[in-house]
Amino acid sequence: MKILANNLKRQYDLHAFEYEAKALEVLRSGWYIMGNELSSFENEFSAYIGSEYCVGLASGLDALWIAFKALHIGKGDEVIVCANAYIACVMGITINDAAPVFVEPDIYDNIDADAIESKITHHTKAILAVHLYGQSCDMTKIMDIAKRYNLKVVEDCAQSHGTKWNGKTCGTFGDISCFSFYPTKGLGAFGDAGAIVTDNKEYADYIRTYRNYGSEKHYHNKMVGANSRLDELQAGLLRVKLQYLDAFNDERVRITDRYNNEIHNPCIRPLATRPCSTNTWHQYVIHCTYRDELMEYLASYEIGTIIHYPIQPHQSEAYAYLGYGEGSFPITEKNAQQILSLPIYNGITEKEQSFVIDKLNAFQPKEIH
Ligand SMILES: *Cc1c(COP(=O)(O)O)cnc(C)c1O
Repeated sequence: MKILANNLKRQYDLHAFEYEAKALEVLRSGWYIMGNELSSFENEFSAYIGSEYCVGLASGLDALWIAFKALHIGKGDEVIVCANAYIACVMGITINDAAPVFVEPDIYDNIDADAIESKITHHTKAILAVHLYGQSCDMTKIMDIAKRYNLKVVEDCAQSHGTKWNGKTCGTFGDISCFSFYPTKGLGAFGDAGAIVTDNKEYADYIRTYRNYGSEKHYHNKMVGANSRLDELQAGLLRVKLQYLDAFNDERVRITDRYNNEIHNPCIRPLATRPCSTNTWHQYVIHCTYRDELMEYLASYEIGTIIHYPIQPHQSEAYAYLGYGEGSFPITEKNAQQILSLPIYNGITEKEQSFVIDKLNAFQPKEIH
């Protein structure tokens, strides 16, 4: 039985008719950029998150770097971010010539809020809270630190569409919050898409203007901006999917309940579940000392797995110029050796998941490492 790490076709099939009807509707409308689908999606998504404004953008990376731009964070400024973040988080900072300051993760694989304060300097301008794998960062501590040191908070919710911290939705804590709708994300488009949400009208207006060549009115350009528009087709399809987001998230909870309850192999440790946070389970991450062997073993049964992420930003070629050698962030580096994301997708069958669980429970590492 071949099981992909992620199988987007399954989720598509659940509501195929509605996506196809919406796609035809947009195609036949004759209006493809900056129309009713986009403004309706922005209204519906900000209402879903519980924030005042949403501005659709072309990708999650654009949301990040444009957010820092709107906050006037650039050369000479420092932004605190977890060392095990996705590389886009770091690029969102460095595209603006600001410097990332890395903090190790806690046992939930999110930024260790207790380690933030010691990294604050007089150059620190913001904390980027990345809610990795679907679980929230400790937003109580992060917002408290930000308040005491007068720092901005940007949330990266690219993996946490609908996650709640103490009952409040992720994306409503920060000054600006960034979303990706890359196809694999909790709310995934059928191509690239992203957005920011904020309660601040000034930021929303700036970003809305910035994304369209710096113009509010056609051919009246107030500033040098970007082309980062969310097109009508993607916005329309996202509107269809948004109606099912809670149901998709609930299904992911049911899938992971099975993993949590039925994996009994002592060499496999599921990621710790953080109290006060719900989890939308963008990934189901386990830690295993024999990770590479486990991955190969599962592959021999045609079970797909992914490492999120095998090379951490500070060790990537892109950031060699930051000068971090091996051992700079030991927890982050150790995690990169041990983490593995198991198959999880909407529409996975019970039989498929049972097969994965059986194989996981039967795994015995050959070598004592
Ligand atoms: C996917 C992702 C991004 C980037 O989003 P794109 O739409 O691919 O540009 C940023 N941050 C995190 C945490 C992500 O998972």
